[in-house]
Amino acid sequence: MSDAVVIGAGPNGLVAANLLAEAGWNVVLVEANDAIGGAVRSSTEVDSAFVHDTFSSFYPLAAVSPTIRSLGLADYGLEWSNAPSPVGNPLKDGGWALIHPDPADTATALEAHTPGDGQAWLELYSDWKRVGPAITEALLSPFPPVHAGLDLLRHLLGPRGLKRLQLLIGPVRSVGDRRFAGEAAKLLLATNSQHADIGPTRLGSGLMGWLLAMIAQQHGYPVPRGGAGRLTQALADRFTSQGGSIVCSARVDRIVVRDGRAVAVRTVDGDEYTASRAVLADVSAPALYGHLIPREDLPAHVLQRMRWFKWDPGTVKVDWALDSLIPWRDKPDLAPGTVHIADSLDELHQCARQIAAGRIPHRPFLLMGQMTTADPSRSPAGTESVWAYTHVPQRVRGDAGGKLKGAWDSAEAELMAERMEGRIEEYAPGFKDRITARRILTPPELERRDANLVAGAVNGGTSSLRQELFLRPMPGLGRAETAIKSLYLASASAHPGGGVHGACGSNAARAALFHAR
Ligand SMILES: Cc1cc2nc3c(=O)[nH]c(=O)nc-3n(C[C@H](O)[C@H](O)[C@H](O)COP(=O)(O)OP(=O)(O)OC[C@H]3O[C@@H](n4cnc5c(N)ncnc54)[C@H](O)[C@@H]3O)c2cc1C
Repeated sequence: MSDAVVIGAGPNGLVAANLLAEAGWNVVLVEANDAIGGAVRSSTEVDSAFVHDTFSSFYPLAAVSPTIRSLGLADYGLEWSNAPSPVGNPLKDGGWALIHPDPADTATALEAHTPGDGQAWLELYSDWKRVGPAITEALLSPFPPVHAGLDLLRHLLGPRGLKRLQLLIGPVRSVGDRRFAGEAAKLLLATNSQHADIGPTRLGSGLMGWLLAMIAQQHGYPVPRGGAGRLTQALADRFTSQGGSIVCSARVDRIVVRDGRAVAVRTVDGDEYTASRAVLADVSAPALYGHLIPREDLPAHVLQRMRWFKWDPGTVKVDWALDSLIPWRDKPDLAPGTVHIADSLDELHQCARQIAAGRIPHRPFLLMGQMTTADPSRSPAGTESVWAYTHVPQRVRGDAGGKLKGAWDSAEAELMAERMEGRIEEYAPGFKDRITARRILTPPELERRDANLVAGAVNGGTSSLRQELFLRPMPGLGRAETAIKSLYLASASAHPGGGVHGACGSNAARAALFHAR
């Protein structure tokens, strides 16, 4: 019998397993897939000479995560690599909105677009340097974040308090309008905010835009050298070097509850893994409460509240192998690793509105990665390993482009990929001619490869305020502790949600250690 069983070897499950093993616990990690990594994996499936990340790629949140930093993953082979520029948007009327590694250079470039915006960028950044550490600590520690919360309060009660409060809770569109005159700087904030599913006119989107743009400015958008999978492999190697064991191809379909306590997990093959101290679940909240725990073991109010759980939108991701670099119409001053494709804030807003209304956008907002630019080991010199993903509704009610129904069969996959390629062509004529291999991952395919990505949801549930902080995953259970003793939710469905920062896993492990004392 082990002290703990962790279900799921995504980054959160692996972080949790590491922290428990470090505390001297005997831990078994049980993973449904035949390989570890969850949504942090890479392979040569698209082209044998190219490494493509199957899901996530850029890890700014890992760069600032106290947990990930504390694990010393460099000792287990993890090396970070950065593109010359972390992130940029090609602009409709020419040129780029680009974050340069030096904030003064970003400011000079924005000033050239619109006088005054360079100074405004530097002000935003200098505020970040003061308040950012408290924000990241508050977000990446268990709720309520007592120490960081007090620190944050001090900054909000100070002379620039009101402006900071607007940044923290305001919509990114109004934050941008207040701070900047030109579209370039506004787009940098707004497109970064769209890594979460909060539309640019919704409360809370300002914080996401500011947070990610400023982390990009301060730390870059790093990628693991050799592929995303190197990050989770380093976590797995650290865990096993401490005596932990990992069992792959073992899908858990039951958490065994005895006298109100989680005591074991059972797999679809009938194998049982017992846990004397805790079970930690890196699975989605709906899977945990809707399937893995027997209904009769759950209080009625939990079942009731789970009905209100809201997923984030679905995703279509396309990976390409190119025989050259992307032929951008306007060459950026520095090549960005992450590229956002959106003509304007209006277009971004329209896209978010269409998704909210259940319609597939006809001009989808694209998040793209130029991976060889970020890490030259990803493909042969002179070529580019590229991906782009875009969001689509969880439940499709229509298509603003008039062609798709949301069946996501191979014909629809092709049509959606062409729509996405069309968007890139507008900024990089000749892009399609450079494609030598392609892989399309539709919402059902993403879910088939990782059960937590339900209909292609990337963040374990919506990031809108109704399901954040103490309301995540549901009111009354906004912590790693669940409705069952010794059972902890360790996935992105728990606070602070999606992204590779390990905080959900770390919160769950700390809670388990605390209660076992
Ligand atoms: C296409 C895409 C792009 C993304 N891009 C980024 C990015 O660039 N940067 C970033 O920071 N984040 C990104 N994300 C989000 C990030 O990858 C996730 O938030 C993160 O992986 C969540 O980690 P997790 O451990 O909670 O879950 P996951 O990574 O989903 O891992 C869950 C694991 O649990 C296993 N599992 C599930 N159910 C069971 C079961 N019943 N029994 C056994 N095992 C089970 C799964 O097989 C999986 O291995 C992206 C996500 C996607 C899908």
